[in-house]
Amino acid sequence: MSDIQKRFEALQAATLRLRNSSAEERADKLKAMWTGIVARKEDLFKAGAIERGCHEVDIAAELVMIKGELDHVVKHIASWVKPQKVKGSLSTMGKKCEIRYQSKGVVLNIAAYNAPTAECFNPIIGAIAAGNAVAIKPSEYAPASAQIIEEIVRDSLPKDEVDVFQGGVEVSQELLSLPFNHIYYTGGNAVGKIVMKAAAENFASITLEMGGKSPVIIDETAQLENAATKLAWGRVMNAGQVCIAPEYVIVHESRKKEFLELISDKIQALYNSDGKGLENSEYVPRIINDRHHKRITGLIADAIKKGATLVTGGNADAADRYIEPTVLTDMNEDMDIMKEEVFGPVMAVMPYTNREDVLDIIAKRPNPLALYIYSTDKDAIEYFLTNTSSGSAVVNNNCVQAGTNSNLAFGGVGASGMGRCCGFEGFKDMSNARSIVHQPLDRFRDFLIMLPPYSDRYKSLIMKGLK
Ligand code: NAD
Repeated sequence: MSDIQKRFEALQAATLRLRNSSAEERADKLKAMWTGIVARKEDLFKAGAIERGCHEVDIAAELVMIKGELDHVVKHIASWVKPQKVKGSLSTMGKKCEIRYQSKGVVLNIAAYNAPTAECFNPIIGAIAAGNAVAIKPSEYAPASAQIIEEIVRDSLPKDEVDVFQGGVEVSQELLSLPFNHIYYTGGNAVGKIVMKAAAENFASITLEMGGKSPVIIDETAQLENAATKLAWGRVMNAGQVCIAPEYVIVHESRKKEFLELISDKIQALYNSDGKGLENSEYVPRIINDRHHKRITGLIADAIKKGATLVTGGNADAADRYIEPTVLTDMNEDMDIMKEEVFGPVMAVMPYTNREDVLDIIAKRPNPLALYIYSTDKDAIEYFLTNTSSGSAVVNNNCVQAGTNSNLAFGGVGASGMGRCCGFEGFKDMSNARSIVHQPLDRFRDFLIMLPPYSDRYKSLIMKGLK
């Protein structure tokens, strides 16, 4: 038996005990986990700087997301684990009906690299709250963070309840071959399909947190300066390695020229205010590795070769894994950048004339994780919200819907994901919503009515149900 299998079986052995643990015990574990995270914050800051050239405030903001979710869950856990009485119906008259959120068993969390600490800890808050044992597989692309995450878990939680499995694809695949009860996955579509297939082998339920090309709509009524400032931030943050980052902008043709000037200015204003150059800014992070650097610069080169105009940016330094915040326009659908998620600091801008065109442009790609609308026209906002689909949407801002409010469950739709993270919805995803009916023994005669041979009264009752 491999080491991974042995550790998995230790997690399995803890499931019944964990299912019977009290809300208080679960909350205490979450609080211990947070104490462990905070104790290692300086190390996590350093890891973020090494891996992605992040400013420590950005890593702190990632940790604050975990704290927000953890506080919310700790506050509500006692009420969530209580049996939830539900209303009766004609058919369950006289019976007591309830739902109990029970643990699923052992949950596997496979994480991506772009917010490695939040992606390892945020989903397991709901999993622990629901009474599950948890296996965490951090991304091998963020190894310094992964090591600290493993140490935090080791020092703050029992190993047979939460265990960290470091490693690459082989480790992930061995884990996926095991009969987990729920798999939570954050990453790209290609691996998402592998996860889904592996889950099918064991009928494991899944939450898939993937990405895609999140569009931005800027109509003729938008406050452009406001939009450009927010979009410059949304696209350059974490060097564009954000699942909900605005990938491409569809702007009304009457505002395109003005928007292109403004977005270029705002990138400079936010990230080059001291005039030392974007490449020297402490706020412009780096791409995670050489492979992704090459992929993103390749997307820029391909777009330009196929007719895109470089509005700003375009420079890169492979040795430093730096890509200058870049804006392109004159896009067409042959360009690879219009087909695949950039996950880098590159924004594509295209014009539209009629609002129906916007729907056509968006429909050319799978359902995105996020959609952003910049407009001051209430009817237009409703039109775009009603006629599109995405995991989440924001009006007159971007990237403020994730990790900011546990009452706003987070997730995708179709190719951008399924299931929900955070708050009660996240807790439910990690639970078996078990329906329970209690039949009072003194109502036995009520039950007999439905048994054969059918009485005229029963027949007429059932037939009435068809009306
Ligand atoms: P990825 O799919 O390459 O890797 C994610 C995880 O899968 C890693 O832990 C990796 O070890 C594992 N993995 C890789 N290949 C595997 C294989 N063949 N079999 C089994 N496991 C395998 O994703 P990434 O490049 O690390 O992350 C970027 C993607 O994640 C983007 O598409 C982004 O939009 C998405 N993302 C989504 C969210 C969200 O919450 N929706 C958040 C962050 C990132």
